[in-house]
Amino acid sequence: MAEFIMTIGTEPGLISHYLKFNLHYQMNCVICNSPTKPFLSKNFIQFDLGKIDYVKCVNCGFVISKTHYEMTDAEWENLNQKWVSLYQGSDFNPEDPRWMERLNNQANIIGDIAELGLLPAGDWLDYGAGDGKLADALKQRFNLDFNKYEHSSNRKDYLSDEGLRPGRFSFLLNTSVMEHLRSRAALDGLFDLMSKNGVMGIHTLVMENIPHDTEWFYLLSVHCSFYTNMAMQILFEQKGYTCSIYNVASRLWFWFKQPAEAIKPAIEQANKRNKGEFYHYIFKEGFVDYWK
Ligand SMILES: [Zn+2]
Repeated sequence: MAEFIMTIGTEPGLISHYLKFNLHYQMNCVICNSPTKPFLSKNFIQFDLGKIDYVKCVNCGFVISKTHYEMTDAEWENLNQKWVSLYQGSDFNPEDPRWMERLNNQANIIGDIAELGLLPAGDWLDYGAGDGKLADALKQRFNLDFNKYEHSSNRKDYLSDEGLRPGRFSFLLNTSVMEHLRSRAALDGLFDLMSKNGVMGIHTLVMENIPHDTEWFYLLSVHCSFYTNMAMQILFEQKGYTCSIYNVASRLWFWFKQPAEAIKPAIEQANKRNKGEFYHYIFKEGFVDYWK
């Protein structure tokens, strides 16, 4: 018997088979690489998706859909096509009923940040631009030029996949994008587009804890990633950012790689302008964990 165990234990093929079998059930956090545990399962009637399993990181609390993570590229593509076809060409966004109001606020805040001189010169990108309303508003109101990118868009005024060159963009805006990323590779791909001192503008939902509730409004069929403050802080540090600001009215974060001393005085001055609460910015040497 002892010999039998020893034989199994030293047979390389069997060991790798055993490891693969067990690894299949183990998924590490795509943010901090700590182990995850099963968190929630939800049944989606929409698009005949069926049961979606979410797992939660034991360290940073980040929640991800294991089901979306394990989909093939073709399955994922197919799901997104169906989703987009639901509201394409309309002013209604099922992900965000207050979309138009937020878009308006976001245009005004990005315009303000640009006027404050906080966005480095170079190529700017609205990644996940949808039908381009935000980039168009920025052009009309502030004469700001943004490249627009939307996955699998054929529009001539949009960047192609080839245009997404790593290190190209000195300002990258992504609104309602990060919750759609289903893997570390997707996340890295987004951040790799940034130039050395590039500023990242982000709108996504961030919470202190992800609700353990199958009826939570944010559990949509195309949402894969759910960020906690801690997960964002870890990502922020991994990607080399030093300080950030948050504007409540537009629900926008701006992440900076420049030293805090280069950003903080400008923000303090901006907050003294008597332009009202709408144009108020919260500064932090780290990720602004506003939603607690
Ligand atoms: Zn984690």
